[in-house]
Amino acid sequence: MDVSILTVFPEIYTNFLQTSLMKRAQEKDIVSFDVCAFSSFCKDKERIDSPTVGHGSGMAIRPDVIERAVDVQEKKYGKAYRIFLTPQGEKLDQRLTKKLAMSFVENDHVMLVAGRYEGIDERAHTEYVDIEVSIGDYILMGGDLPAMVLLETVMRYIPSVVGKSESVEKDSFSGAFLDFPTYTAPPRVWKDREIPPILLDGHHAKIDEWRLNN
Ligand code: SAM
Repeated sequence: MDVSILTVFPEIYTNFLQTSLMKRAQEKDIVSFDVCAFSSFCKDKERIDSPTVGHGSGMAIRPDVIERAVDVQEKKYGKAYRIFLTPQGEKLDQRLTKKLAMSFVENDHVMLVAGRYEGIDERAHTEYVDIEVSIGDYILMGGDLPAMVLLETVMRYIPSVVGKSESVEKDSFSGAFLDFPTYTAPPRVWKDREIPPILLDGHHAKIDEWRLNN
């Protein structure tokens, strides 16, 4: 699966994609990322943004820059499922995460488009968007953290990314219940706090019942 990320600042993704499970997913050939700067689709000294039209001042990313980026990336990897990160989009929750994970699996190419400034020219949204996703009702400086949040949550549902699929199924918000409390041993006692004894006696049915109630 190829994931194109279109952004003003590709450097933001360097450590993120080279760490932990995101790195392992690439090493296992489950996913390959192509992080592209909008500027790489422009000629020398050509701007990626233009002043917004109407009252108020600000700059937004030009539709013709989005067009070139989409065309180039789709020529490389095929037609993409295009996800634009916007505050007006569908709110990301675990249900939407699962739906997006299916789109990742069903499409060989997924494109994440992260805006900056006042956003992206509306005509490019209308032309290219398959889904707009918001990570919550607040405004960030850009769509890069939203893109990373989306990837962190969606990739957990892609087969073989998380070692134990059981841990994903038991995550909070995946089923009817929130996750149960977690303890580590050692230490069995820490600051006079003991691990609930039932967790230590190896009786799976009783542990399951305890987890259901806690
Ligand atoms: N003027 C825009 C508005 O009020 O809706 C905000 C633009 S914001 C400063 C720049 C970019 O950050 C947006 O185009 C979007 O890509 C991203 N962004 C900001 N907040 C976001 C959120 N809550 N969810 C997803 N993307 C967000």
